[in-house]
Amino acid sequence: MCAAAMAQPILWPLQARNLDTKLRNWAGNLDFSTDRLYSAQSVDQVRDYVTKQEKLKVLGTRHCFNNIADSKHAFLSVMSMNDVIVLDPRAGTVIVGAGMTYGKLSPWLHSKGFALHNLASLPDISIAGACTTATHGSGVKNGNLSTAVSALEFVNANGDLIPLSRAQNGDAFQGAVVGLGALGVITKLTLDIEPTYMVRQFVYENMPLSELKNHFDEIESAAYSVSLFTDWQNRRISEVWLKVRDGDGKRFDAPAEFFGAKRATRNMHPIASLSAVNCTEQMGVPGPWYDRLPHFRIGFTPSAGKELQTEYFVARKNAVDAIQAVEQLHEQVSPHLLITEIRTIAADKLWLSPCYGQDSVTIHFTWKPEWPAVSALMPVIERQLAPFNPRPHWAKLFTVPPEELRAKYVKMREFLELAQKFDPPGKFRNEFLNKYIFDT
Ligand SMILES: Cc1cc2nc3c(=O)[nH]c(=O)nc-3n(C[C@H](O)[C@H](O)[C@H](O)COP(=O)(O)OP(=O)(O)OC[C@H]3O[C@@H](n4cnc5c(N)ncnc54)[C@H](O)[C@@H]3O)c2cc1C
Repeated sequence: MCAAAMAQPILWPLQARNLDTKLRNWAGNLDFSTDRLYSAQSVDQVRDYVTKQEKLKVLGTRHCFNNIADSKHAFLSVMSMNDVIVLDPRAGTVIVGAGMTYGKLSPWLHSKGFALHNLASLPDISIAGACTTATHGSGVKNGNLSTAVSALEFVNANGDLIPLSRAQNGDAFQGAVVGLGALGVITKLTLDIEPTYMVRQFVYENMPLSELKNHFDEIESAAYSVSLFTDWQNRRISEVWLKVRDGDGKRFDAPAEFFGAKRATRNMHPIASLSAVNCTEQMGVPGPWYDRLPHFRIGFTPSAGKELQTEYFVARKNAVDAIQAVEQLHEQVSPHLLITEIRTIAADKLWLSPCYGQDSVTIHFTWKPEWPAVSALMPVIERQLAPFNPRPHWAKLFTVPPEELRAKYVKMREFLELAQKFDPPGKFRNEFLNKYIFDT
């Protein structure tokens, strides 16, 4: 190919689906409103495409459950821009293309002697999509995945490339990291890294809810990352997953009993009736951080597959009261539930992060794919949690009214100004953003 042709930005329609099926999200609960999907291989192609489109959305790995990613007009994928650009051990950072997934980056980072501070329950999601929606893992001292972003570059509505960093752009940076795809097309991310570490995972079964009530902070602080699973039946936490980080100064001797729960004698799936074959190794077998912090292994189907998800963040100081409030709904909730997961996340300063300004606990619901029942239950749960001012996960299903949702974010006005600055014509807005963020 001649040099002139190579420099010419060419966008290829992406065959992301079979011709006889619609373009839809991972869970299959949402058919996207257009199948015009283009793939960009370079920043120049992104700039060219953005300049020419009246409206567009970026699609990452399509793991959102609501219509935050949807477009009636056109989709752009940057999933081909998935290289490691620079590993800088002195700065303690790695720079990646926005199409990079945690599943691809993590083993590579480990092989070079480095690690990320945390991961979500599954590794096979795009880093850009995860960070722009404030995806989280667990740990009383661990911020969500977006807090590892120290710089980013994105293409704004004008086609300009905008670099922002924690060190140099203070406020605008704190506003842009959890940008919900509203500011532009992220092309590059810089993440904080640390020396690699090993993690041992232990699972305990059947913890009485009363133990959680009396010892919540002790239980959640017993390991680097702790997840509690319950089906809300029989007043018990069915599984407690403790991810113990070697060398973090916390000693965990894996007693046979942990706050009334018994140490499991085999690998478990969070949904106890499912095979653990897709789950990361347990039983205290040491392994690299990326193969223990997520519950599900790289390249394997996470969770149940056919499911819906809802999740609410409340201040950690209200954790026990909020959990007890939801427990009162167990007769309504349990028949439609696959499993609930309870996790803690440290406070951060990212404007639209649900953990903004408060150490948080999340109460998550993996539902059976029973939309009529789930859509009727969400407002019931939201009313029950109302005294604790719940913030819904941006990427999951919820029914909190838009005005109420906006009021939960003290930096919402500043975020609107940021969006106005980078996207004056509203090129990156869609139905979700118009309803919940822009009030139009
Ligand atoms: C099985 C399963 C398990 C999950 N586990 C967790 C969990 O443990 N913790 C948790 O917090 N969440 C979890 N999630 C939710 C998930 O992390 C979020 O949905 C996340 O946004 C997924 O990223 P994605 O690339 O797949 O997003 P997509 O759905 O593709 O996109 C999400 C948003 O990001 C925007 N976006 C994507 N790429 C870019 C870009 N380059 N530039 C600008 N905007 C962009 C999109 O426009 C959209 O608004 C889970 C989801 C599933 C299906």
